[in-house]
Parts: sequence; structure tokens; C-alpha cells
Amino acid sequence: MGTLVLLGTGWAGGAVLAAFFVSSTAVGRAVPERPRLDEKSERRDAAQVVANGGPAALAALAALVPAGPGINRPGLAVWIVTASLAAAAADTWATSIGGLSRTAPRRLWFGSVVEPGTNGGMTAAGNVGALAGAALVAGVGALAAGMPALAPAGTLVGFAGMLVDSALGALVQGRFRCGACDAESEWRVHRCGARTVRIGGLAWLDNDGVNLAATAIAAGLGAVAWRLSGG
Ligand SMILES: [Zn+2]
Repeated sequence: MGTLVLLGTGWAGGAVLAAFFVSSTAVGRAVPERPRLDEKSERRDAAQVVANGGPAALAALAALVPAGPGINRPGLAVWIVTASLAAAAADTWATSIGGLSRTAPRRLWFGSVVEPGTNGGMTAAGNVGALAGAALVAGVGALAAGMPALAPAGTLVGFAGMLVDSALGALVQGRFRCGACDAESEWRVHRCGARTVRIGGLAWLDNDGVNLAATAIAAGLGAVAWRLSGG
């Protein structure tokens, strides 16, 4: 994916990818992670990489296709790559910084209080983290591409992507229950090894699918913002 982004968008896209990767890793390490109650077997798997970087890589790939005269495809691709990775950063940062919150998360911020780590649970700290993560990635994109408008646009789209992620996670993602442990889970197979039963949401839509939808929607919004900015 890094190779595709570099080929399609050059060093500007590469800088954005590095900003996402380095900052997300750093924030994950700096913030002591709470032990997750509902662990998947391996956390950083291929599906997670595709969910975060797939739309960006596709946009970069599309930039390699020759365009007609007057169409600045690499410029558009940098906006899409930045917008979708800003959304990925916003979600990652919100999870890490939100984990530090002393107030309990609420479902989509205004709803009922939920357990920390619940999909769609939001805190003020998490929202500040999301904004910071999106702003960092968008700022690097704006600097590297020499396009100042990309900084506010990418920040807004990244934050919006995090909101989409939270809403889909709370409302549409599959929710399951393990009868053996009498516990809720977001996985079809519980960490104890027993198969779970669906209690709500779409069974086929897991956290990676929600992340992919959010980064893909952010990619689309990035293209719209590029058009609105006169690109
Ligand atoms: Zn179980």
C-alpha cells in the first residue's frame, strides 16, 4: 500500500502516509492501553491494514491512469489520500486518547453511558484526540503538497470520518453474545473459543468493515472538498 501511495502521489502522499503511521503508532504507545475485555486473536492483521489504507491506495492507483488535459489527477489523489488517512488517524487517536477519559463514554456522545471500549462510545477527550490526529495528518498533507486549503478541509473530513465510524459502530455493526461466558462480544467466535449468537446489527459487518466504510466515505468527501476548493 505504501508503494502504491508513493507511486501515485509521490513524496506528498508518502509524507501523509508516514504522518498517519508514525503518529498512530506513537499515540498508541504513549497512552497505556487498558486491557481489552473483548479481544480478537491478532489485532494488527491484514484486514485492519486494508480498512485503514485501502481507499487511499486505490485513489493513488487511479492517479496512475492517464487523465485528459486539464485534469490534475495527482492533486486530486493527494486530497483523497490525505482525507481518508486523516479519518483513519482520527479514529485511532480517538480510541487511544479517549481511553484516558475520566468520564465514562456515552453512546454517540449524547446517548446512554456505555462501558469504555464499546463501539460508538464517545468522550470529549476522544473527540479532541480525533481532531488532533486529523489535523496532524491534514497539516502534513497541506505542507507536503503546497496546498494550504487541504489543512482545514482534511481536518474536517477526517473528523467527519470518525463520526461516521462511531455511528456505524453503534448502530449497524454486528453485536453478539457468548452463551458459555454470558458476555457480549463483537466477534462471531468469542475469545473463549465458543461461537456467539447475534443479538443485533448486521452479522457480516465487523469493526474492520466499519473502519473501511469510514475511510472510503472520507475519501469521497476528500474528492468533493477538492472540487469545492477549485481543484
Ligand atoms: Zn465465551
